[in-house]
Amino acid sequence: MVEKERISLCNDKEVKNGEYVLYWMQASQRACFNPALEYACLTANALNKPLIVLFCIMPGYLAASFRHYKFMVEGLQENSDSIRKRGAAFIIKAGEPCEIITELSKNASMIIFDFAYLDFMKAVRKKAAAQSVCRVVQVESNVVVPVAAASSKEEYSAATLRPKINAVVSKYLDYEEEKIEIKNKISDPQIESLTEQQAKEYIQNFKRNNRYFDESSFTGGYSQACQKLEVFIKDKLHNYAGMRNDPTCEVQSDLSPYLHFGQISPVYIAKQIIKTLSESAEEYLEELIVRRELAHNFVMYNEDYARYDSVPVWAKKTLAEHLSDPREYYYSPQQLENAQTHDEYWNSAQNELLLRGKMHNYMRMYWGKKIIEWSETPQKAFEIMVYLNDRYEMDGRDPSGYAGICWCFGKHDRPWSSRRIFGNVRYMNDKGLERKFKIQKYVQRIENLKKGR
Ligand code: FAD
Repeated sequence: MVEKERISLCNDKEVKNGEYVLYWMQASQRACFNPALEYACLTANALNKPLIVLFCIMPGYLAASFRHYKFMVEGLQENSDSIRKRGAAFIIKAGEPCEIITELSKNASMIIFDFAYLDFMKAVRKKAAAQSVCRVVQVESNVVVPVAAASSKEEYSAATLRPKINAVVSKYLDYEEEKIEIKNKISDPQIESLTEQQAKEYIQNFKRNNRYFDESSFTGGYSQACQKLEVFIKDKLHNYAGMRNDPTCEVQSDLSPYLHFGQISPVYIAKQIIKTLSESAEEYLEELIVRRELAHNFVMYNEDYARYDSVPVWAKKTLAEHLSDPREYYYSPQQLENAQTHDEYWNSAQNELLLRGKMHNYMRMYWGKKIIEWSETPQKAFEIMVYLNDRYEMDGRDPSGYAGICWCFGKHDRPWSSRRIFGNVRYMNDKGLERKFKIQKYVQRIENLKKGR
């Protein structure tokens, strides 16, 4: 059963006696463990209407590159097969979702959205709901604890959010999926739709014949995500607590791209991890639930999440006080993008991002701190980080991305002793990497990746 805290009204229109119930699948691109889809199925059956699931391909979506579209489209066939098996229709359209939904609303009884956190997608939902002629409801389906159910305000840090999450999380982890069959089955909804093959051909328009924009080492789709989870549980989880910070060890789950596209549910992942009874389970759940949902809390309650304005007041003040500190190196956005700095560890991290489409978590922190050190102003550093993160990370354009960038500037952290350029904001240096890890091993791995391409 979908928990009521996940469900909210998007307009005050009536439920109509239309031809179908419509679910616009956008944030939760999966047929399994998807409360929005489940709610849509329940609604269709309660109204005795067929269910149509709509998928839109939006050109020019928030700095997305071909590598992101490709990953997304790779998940489509599996979703459409699972949804059709339940007796619902799956249609794919290319274009502006607001116009498509407004048009489809004319024959709909009710419309269901999955929930958005970023401004751009919130605005699309708001406009589509206002223009639709029937009731629109949204279901928050990509977090374990719905953000407002955990906290009604922007949290200061993980330490303040953690007890609030822990107080309610078991209720949401009890969720069991009901694979609901549609009673009023539909095979052909008589609505123009791209086939999965046509969707693949359509996105070729976004190709730039540049390997950094076009390729990554990830293949999209629910089965791929489940396979990654299985490998993680079998081979890596036992080392996660001790080694997750070490960029020379590959013990991270690599699930962030799948979570970003909603191709796997965080509730499902958490349930599988809990079942293992592994000693590392607690550390993993801390990242998957507390840290990830702290990021969702941040973007939900801080409208400046993608701008320097979102940096805490104390951090902005201390960084401003150190603006005139001499910088040993300055790099232009192009030099940074092309991994052309004097620092081979930083260049390796940037190359990992360009080539693989996913930088190791620890190197993301180092990467961000160095961009602050090598930029004229913290504002410029913030902008270039958002640009690079959103363009190249397969998990970019995500709440965890904006929170991670802001963390480099002191968000969700505390003041440290004062340093050149950073003031009281936490500082990181290459000596730390050398002290903690066999960092040359990481450099070598990325060199091999380069040669392999
Ligand atoms: P695992 O270690 O296997 O963790 C499992 C899941 O927990 C991750 O998939 C993720 O959803 C969540 N998680 C782990 N660490 C964090 C964290 N620090 N904050 C929030 N959630 C976390 N994450 C993104 O998903 N997208 C981004 O664009 C992104 N950009 C970042 C930029 C910077 C500068 C920094 C410092 C961090 C960024 N992160 C981002 C957070 C983190 O680095 C990634 O979530 C993590 O590396 C993803 O790899 P994984 O799935 O193998 O992680």
